[in-house]
Amino acid sequence: MPIFQTEGIVLQSRNFSETSKILVVFTRDKGVVSILVKGGRKGNKKFPGGLETLNRIDLQYYHKQARELQNFKSFDLIDSFQGFRENLSRLYTALSLAETVLRCTASEDQNEALYISLIAALEAIDQQESSPWTIRWKSLLEFCKYLGFGMALEDCSKCGSKSDIAAFDLQSGGFLCRKHTENKPSVINVSGELWGTLRFLAQCNYSAAPRMNVNSTTGRRIETLFKQYYLYHIPGLKTPESWKKLQEIYWVREE
Ligand SMILES: [Zn+2]
Repeated sequence: MPIFQTEGIVLQSRNFSETSKILVVFTRDKGVVSILVKGGRKGNKKFPGGLETLNRIDLQYYHKQARELQNFKSFDLIDSFQGFRENLSRLYTALSLAETVLRCTASEDQNEALYISLIAALEAIDQQESSPWTIRWKSLLEFCKYLGFGMALEDCSKCGSKSDIAAFDLQSGGFLCRKHTENKPSVINVSGELWGTLRFLAQCNYSAAPRMNVNSTTGRRIETLFKQYYLYHIPGLKTPESWKKLQEIYWVREE
């Protein structure tokens, strides 16, 4: 059986039987792959840690076409992102991005741009101590682009105006000025501040994202917008559990 080697991020790691584990890994070269690790449960001397969720690993497995569960061979740890593990808000931000990839991509659907974007996001959350939500929103902007439904943030998608932006069309992914706001179910009201925040995040790099100062009202509106937008475009998607959890974590201090 051919051995396949690629690097990947562990999206999920769960116990399977008394001794084994199933890893769900988002790989650079094969997309999301499920791997059975015999004898891989914690405490086993063969695997002294390293197969935990959110670890970046270099992975070898026995690849068989059209098989749902592949067999593990070996791995090397590339990065365990120790920077964000101790902080609830940053850890859940990272988990929410992993869950987004898990829920929004099909098995073995290669998406290298999405992979590179996820790595950049995890590195930023690992290194930046403040405002992880800005990195999350920047990531969600990048992810939807690589999932095929990017937002057009430049200006009003009808007239090119950059002033008085008042609405967003979930269907087209375009923003609309007050004059061109349409009355149809996919159009929702947004504030100019929300639009400006997302516009900044789309243009900056990951390390600069936390410089954007956002109040909790706008923050909640941005979260709602992403939720509606992803649910609109990904068939069968329900709000990921980690997204719900973040609403309790992010804005508590200001209430
Ligand atoms: Zn317009």
